[in-house]
Amino acid sequence: MKSHNQTPVQSPPSRPLPYGRQSIGEDDIQAVVEVLRSDWLTTGPAVDRFEKGIAEFVGAEHAVAVSSGTAALHAAMYAAGVGPGDEVIVPAMTFAATANAAVFLGAIPVFADIEPDTLLVDPASVEKRLTSRTKAIAAVDYAGQPCDYASLTRIAAESNAVLIADGCHALGAALAGKRVGSLAGLTAFSFHPVKHITTGEGGMITTNDPELAQRMRLFRNHGISSDHRERSERGSWFYEMVDLGYNYRISDFQCALGLSQLKKLPEWVRRRQQIAARYDEGFLGSAITPLTRRAGATHAFHLYVVRVNGDRQAAFSRLRERGIGANVHYIPVHLHPYYQRRFGTCPGLCPVAEEAYRQILSLPMFPAMTDEDADFVIESLRDVVS
Ligand SMILES: *Cc1c(COP(=O)(O)O)cnc(C)c1O
Repeated sequence: MKSHNQTPVQSPPSRPLPYGRQSIGEDDIQAVVEVLRSDWLTTGPAVDRFEKGIAEFVGAEHAVAVSSGTAALHAAMYAAGVGPGDEVIVPAMTFAATANAAVFLGAIPVFADIEPDTLLVDPASVEKRLTSRTKAIAAVDYAGQPCDYASLTRIAAESNAVLIADGCHALGAALAGKRVGSLAGLTAFSFHPVKHITTGEGGMITTNDPELAQRMRLFRNHGISSDHRERSERGSWFYEMVDLGYNYRISDFQCALGLSQLKKLPEWVRRRQQIAARYDEGFLGSAITPLTRRAGATHAFHLYVVRVNGDRQAAFSRLRERGIGANVHYIPVHLHPYYQRRFGTCPGLCPVAEEAYRQILSLPMFPAMTDEDADFVIESLRDVVS
């Protein structure tokens, strides 16, 4: 049974090789089918089970499941009390959703620069961006490596700001033995197919604060004080809408998939680390520089990012020609037309992020990749960069 469970349903891709890809097994499909045959397709017991599974895994008291990583960030910022006119400090090197979540609530994203070697948010830059209106600081565990939480926690405490971790790259990562999900007041995760485990679309927020957890449960359900199952169990029709919320619920069959995937997460993180070690060794003595690893950090390698000393565009195009799905993560958020137009951000605001953006490439990284796939990427990139 065990070996049958481990067999992926789709054969692992050979070429083209994407930068990230889900692994779905027969066990995952069975878990989803079981829920489809049950009474609850949404707000049911599978949601509770997945929440408990993630809370236990990361070492947090509470977990609230939602419909996407973006919804998780929105809910976290809502719970933190972010509102109109507040400022939220966000690293420039992240996916737009980190900053968008602040904008959803009427707040102003203030972009902090990053460290040149790790591309993680630079605590010194965060400190420079603090004002009396700073309500929250969003930390992004870029590529799967935890930020400098010791410094960020101190800065947040000194400035009365809430530290929110965007852990969408970092499920399974840890710092000094504590997992991402337990390192900040609130941590958001995504279960998009390129992330460590998937529910198709989905997200989760973890926290140790029961009040914040309760606020997020309201927020994901229209701001209503009880859900359908609670009312059904009480035999009552009564409910109240106490604040403006959204429908950010996730279905039970998605949560069944997530819980089934979670069992395989430790093994998948190990495999990502093995591939990273192979890449590291393969690029020694070349013009290709992997990002620096922080001491004491367990890296979960959502992405494997290198800096290319040379023509990045040519390297990108020639990898694509060979069927290697290299990518660029990310265009600094403050350079997007929307942010330039709406918030007046412009080039020069975060010079380290802008410089890194011109050199970075994300290489294929997912657990079903073979050593031969990794070697093909190494040879191809060394070839095109030399
Ligand atoms: C994936 C991701 C998100 C958004 O997650 P979705 O589930 O796609 O909404 C937010 N922040 C970061 C850093 C991400 O990588």
